[in-house]
Amino acid sequence: MGIKRHSLTNQSVHFRSGIRHELDSFIKEIDCSRAFVLSTPEQTDVARDLAEKLQNITVGVFTGAKMHTPVEVTAMALEHTKSVNADCLVSVGGGSTTGLSKAIALHTDLPQIIIPTTYAGSEATPILGQTEDGIKTTIKDDKVLPEIILYDPELVVTLPRNLSVTSGLNAMAHAVEGLYAKDRSDDSTQLAKDGLQYFVSSLPDVLVDPEDIKAREDTLRGAWACGTVLGTVGMALHHKLCHTLGGSFDLPHAETHAIILPHAIAYNALAVPDLLEPLGVMLNDRNTGKAIWEFAKSLGAPLSLSELGMKEDDIDLAVDIAVKNPYWNPREITREGIHKLLRNAWAGSAPE
Ligand code: NAD
Repeated sequence: MGIKRHSLTNQSVHFRSGIRHELDSFIKEIDCSRAFVLSTPEQTDVARDLAEKLQNITVGVFTGAKMHTPVEVTAMALEHTKSVNADCLVSVGGGSTTGLSKAIALHTDLPQIIIPTTYAGSEATPILGQTEDGIKTTIKDDKVLPEIILYDPELVVTLPRNLSVTSGLNAMAHAVEGLYAKDRSDDSTQLAKDGLQYFVSSLPDVLVDPEDIKAREDTLRGAWACGTVLGTVGMALHHKLCHTLGGSFDLPHAETHAIILPHAIAYNALAVPDLLEPLGVMLNDRNTGKAIWEFAKSLGAPLSLSELGMKEDDIDLAVDIAVKNPYWNPREITREGIHKLLRNAWAGSAPE
C-alpha cells in the first residue's frame, strides 16, 4: 500500500471538507476495486449516495447496522459481503456502523475505510464491542483497526443538536480517562489535552451554527484525538460504569456517557486532582467534576439517568454489577462511593 500512516496508530487519517468525493482514489490506493458500503437504516441516503458516486466500484450496500453490534446483524452482512466477493469495506456513520465494519473485518480481514459522522471515536481503536443474547463483550484485535479514516465535516452538519452534545461528551470521556490512565505516556496525555481543547472550544460553536464547517472539522479532530487515546491506553471507572449501564439496563450509549462523566470525574478528582487539572484550566474551574457538569448543562445535555428511563430501583443492582469485578482505577472503588455517584447521576444532581 502506498498510503501514508499516522506514526501513533499506523492508520491513514485525513480531514477535509468534501473528502468523501475522493473515496474512489483511496480505494484504488489500497489496490481494491469491489467496495461494500455500510450504514444504519437512518443513513441509507448517505450510503446510497456514496455508492452511486462510486459507480462500478461498489458491489453492495448494507444499511442494517445497529447499536452494540448484534452478532445476528453481523452474520447477515457477512454473508452479503462474501456473496458479492467484496475486497474492501466502506463505513459511513457513527460508532454503530463502524462497529459492523470492524466485526466483518474480524472475520474476513478486509481493509476498512471509515467515514465517521459522529464523535464516538471507534474508527481510531482496535476495539470491538459485540452483543450476543443481550450480553455485550469487548475484544481488542489489530485486525479490526481500520486502515483509512476520512473525516468529512460536511457529513456531520446533519448530526442533531442533542447527539452533537452527547457524542462530544462521549469523546471527551475517552480523553479524561486518558489523563489518569495507568499506562499513559507523554504522547497519549498530549493527545488527550488536544482532544479536550477541541471540544471545549468548538462544541458551543457547533450549537450556535450546526453548519459551521470549521467548528465541525475541529470537533472531528477532537474525535480522532480522543478516540486514539481510547485505543492506546486503558480506561477506568467511567467506561466501566457506562458499559454496565448500557449492557444491563439498555441505556443509550452517548447519553449515558454524557450523564456519568461529571460524576466519574468528581469521584476520581479526589485521588488525582493534579492529573485532571488541565481540564479544569480549560473550563476555568479547578473543581473539574462540577466544571464539566456545568459545561454539559450549558450545552443542554441530559443530566439524569432517570430521564433515560432508568428506574430508581435499579440503582442497587447497578452498584452490585459495577463493584463485582475489580479493575484498576486511580481511586479505590467502594460500594458506598459508587452508590452515591449513581444516585446523584440518576437524580441529575450536581456531582459531589
Ligand atoms: P450511532 O452510530 O448508533 O448513531 C446514532 C444515530 O445517529 C444513528 O441512527 C445514526 O444513523 C445517526 N447518525 C449518525 N451520524 C449522523 C449524522 N451525521 N447525521 C444524522 N444522523 C446521524 O451512535 P454512536 O454514539 O456514534 O455509536 C455508538 C456505538 O459505538 C455503540 O455501540 C458503542 O459501543 C460503539 N463505540 C465503540 C467504540 C470502540 O472503540 N469500539 C468507541 C465508541 C463507541
